[in-house]
Amino acid sequence: MLNMNRMSKSAETACPGSGKDVSTSNGMEDSVHSFKAADLVIELSQTHKAKPDLTNLVFGTVFSDHMLTIEWTSIGGWQKPHIKPFGNLSLHPACSAMHYAVQLFEGMKAYRDADDKVRLFRPMLNMNRMAKSAERACLPAFDRAELVECIRRLVQVDREWVPQSDSASLYIRPTFLGTEPSLGVKKPSRALLYVILSPVGSYFSTGAKPVSLWADSKYIRAWRGGTGDCKMGGNYGASIYAQYEAVDYGCQQVLWLYGDDHQITEVGTMNMFLFWNNENGEEELATPPLDGIILPGITRQSILELTRKWGEFKVCERYLTMADLRCALKENRVKEMFGSGTACVVSPVGRILYQGENLHIPCQEGFPQLASRLMKELTDIQYGRTQSDWSVLV
Ligand SMILES: *Cc1c(COP(=O)(O)O)cnc(C)c1O
Repeated sequence: MLNMNRMSKSAETACPGSGKDVSTSNGMEDSVHSFKAADLVIELSQTHKAKPDLTNLVFGTVFSDHMLTIEWTSIGGWQKPHIKPFGNLSLHPACSAMHYAVQLFEGMKAYRDADDKVRLFRPMLNMNRMAKSAERACLPAFDRAELVECIRRLVQVDREWVPQSDSASLYIRPTFLGTEPSLGVKKPSRALLYVILSPVGSYFSTGAKPVSLWADSKYIRAWRGGTGDCKMGGNYGASIYAQYEAVDYGCQQVLWLYGDDHQITEVGTMNMFLFWNNENGEEELATPPLDGIILPGITRQSILELTRKWGEFKVCERYLTMADLRCALKENRVKEMFGSGTACVVSPVGRILYQGENLHIPCQEGFPQLASRLMKELTDIQYGRTQSDWSVLV
């Protein structure tokens, strides 16, 4: 084992711009008892796996050489963070993550720029969301800046795994498990936070094909007072059944509806945007408000902030129902509809199957205008082609 603290830059210079995204309004203190990146213990792998061919790589199937693990116990608190060779975990069979889904995750990416530097996109927003999910899951608090620093060090160690490409990236999957070794339904007395890395190819490697959606109120993704606004594993495991029913109906993903008025909430595991002329004839980009059933996507937030800065059309967080959409389609008021998320950035919608009727959404058989512009502006920031404090050097 080798302690490589000296390798790190100081915390201030290490994370330029990160202070900007730190939320101080949610009452969570960063001065909590936490692990510290300065205590990192690094054990390098003796072997190096071959890098995969990114052209036909299936998402999340290949992992890098190392992982980050940090253990917590109610008695001993946070232990030192470890970067060590990627490998299996050893868990007690009663572990609360396995029985009661005391579990959460995050999804973010590292991008390689033209100067061969590696970048993260607004990582503190992922940490803030992870801290909120942890609170909801009764998992212990941690210092969000310290976790970003640990992740930066992990990506530095595995930096060869960040693809040399302006469309591929290294997917980063922070995971947090309750590892309580007993069957009581209670706050875990043990927990394990770990981070794994997986190289991913371009999301649209087979070309930009608009997605088709199955819209039905038979299954509900999230509900008020539930956990739909947190990235907790149970939300996703429970959605797989509906996803396969969508495929049975000849559609690719589920358009999740909510309530008797069939509010449009999310697309698969993406946030949803409608670009249209609204009921008052105003050109508007609309997405549902964060009222507890919407996952607060970082891409969603970035799209809202970018388009509000442009100031070219109305940007609104508002309710949208299937009746609103159907009426707007009849009156030719719909310009574009797309999903947003870290994996794809934006993904245009071409068709919605709803109550036995195919609703066709304008999409120019590929990327419509606004989706294209957002895709370009966001990826230019992510890959360092545009200077922005949203992009943080590793
Ligand atoms: C992760 C996720 C999103 C997108 O969030 P990003 O931070 O933009 O990647 C949207 N909806 C759901 C349900 C998600 O899990």
